[in-house]
Amino acid sequence: MAGGELEPVIGLEIHVQLRTATKMFCGCALGFGEPPNTRTCPVCLGLPGALPVANAEAIHYGLMIGMALDSELAPVSTFHRKNYFYPDLPKGYQISQFDLPLCSGGKLGEVNIHRVHLEEDAAKLNHAGASGRIEGADSSIVDFNRGGTPLAEIVTEPELRSAEQVGEWLRLLRTTLRTLGVSDVNMEEGSLRCDANISLRPVGTDQLGTKTELKNMNSFRFIERGIRAEVERQRAIIEAGEAVTQETLHFDPKSESITSLRSKEEAHDYRYFPEPDLPPVVITEEMLARAAAALPELPAAREQRYVETLSLSPESARLFAWRAELADYFDAVCAADPSLDSQVAANWVTELQGRLGDEEAEASKVTAISLAQLAAMVVASEINQGGAKQVLDELVAAGGDPAGIVAAQGLEAVGGADELAPIVAAALEANPELSERLRGGDMKPIGVIVGEVMKQTRGRADGKEVTAIVREQLELG
Ligand code: ADP
Ligand code: MG
Ligand code: ZN
Repeated sequence: MAGGELEPVIGLEIHVQLRTATKMFCGCALGFGEPPNTRTCPVCLGLPGALPVANAEAIHYGLMIGMALDSELAPVSTFHRKNYFYPDLPKGYQISQFDLPLCSGGKLGEVNIHRVHLEEDAAKLNHAGASGRIEGADSSIVDFNRGGTPLAEIVTEPELRSAEQVGEWLRLLRTTLRTLGVSDVNMEEGSLRCDANISLRPVGTDQLGTKTELKNMNSFRFIERGIRAEVERQRAIIEAGEAVTQETLHFDPKSESITSLRSKEEAHDYRYFPEPDLPPVVITEEMLARAAAALPELPAAREQRYVETLSLSPESARLFAWRAELADYFDAVCAADPSLDSQVAANWVTELQGRLGDEEAEASKVTAISLAQLAAMVVASEINQGGAKQVLDELVAAGGDPAGIVAAQGLEAVGGADELAPIVAAALEANPELSERLRGGDMKPIGVIVGEVMKQTRGRADGKEVTAIVREQLELG
């Protein structure tokens, strides 16, 4: 099937650990970092005769998520058993939802949501290996603390089209969940985990191609790289006239390699059946009212507020609103200096974020107050853009006080006709030929003269001001 242009089709399944006080179906406190197997009970260990009880707080969080994603909330929702064997699953089944999930449909940003359901997390296997903690054995050990942690699984429609779009949309989702306060949404620690389903199809068709599933990627960067690698792998297969095999894959970010975990032939038949020990969840008006009352300002509203009340550009408004921490940092910069223009503050926050990569602005050495001071110094022409960027580099590297860095490094702006006129005059005098050409109306060499002045001022002059003075001295009007 060589020829026509191919487009990626991506659908996501996201597991979110909910930040409830206790586990999904028992009274054990959630365990993070405690000694192994200290947060367990007969229910989450799957001992015979133990009875689960659904966690009301998890259902409440599920409803909040559904409302934030504009989902349809089921009046009655049920739990099912999803049967499979694995050492991290003591009961031999996971309690999940099947045909009556808590939330159906919905939309976040430009992406439609298929469903959101509640389930319990598996325990954690630690593969100790030959040098592991169990003597004499090439071993794995299981920690049941995580087993039974409440999860919300969010499933999107297959509507995403690129790795970049996935990364951007996941940031919006993460910010939404974080703002709701329902999860720690920490990808490294596994409280937000994403599987990406990927297929290709000829542009202009709407039939779906055979998909593969990239499992459990634990950072935005790995997800984007994994998807890019898988799209290229499938493209090569299809362009060679062969067919993609439906399988579950693992992306190794270190080697950039993709390996198969299991193929369709080995796919599970989970034999879902209704959980006999749990009654259906009936959603009351009271539960809906409580969830609605708990909703904070969501990213879409924040984005709109930034545009309407702060007059931020749509790009800045979206950049911040989709990243709650960055937005909070931006708010702090504005609060540090209320006289600062919001868009100017936004531009400096964006400039800072560009230098930080994945690091969060608020966790960097650059305090909101120092960034506000830096921005104000530029507005007041105390330093020029180039100087300010040097100061910012210094702040990123070592923190400190912008005015102090300017003084210590001699970065004060050289400005005003008094200071610049003699330097411009000297530059013109040193380049008589260029000056003649300029006088004759050939403006090409003006950059050389401005460059000369910038050199003399060690880059501390304002280019536009220098250009104006050059024109004035040559009487070019
Ligand atoms: P499965 O039963 O294999 O889990 P689902 O139909 O439940 O598959 O879909 C799981 C996820 O995969 C959803 O996010 C969905 O949008 C996505 N998906 C389904 N089919 C495709 C496809 N052909 N290409 C890309 N994504 C897909
Ligand atoms: Mg799946
Ligand atoms: Zn328990």
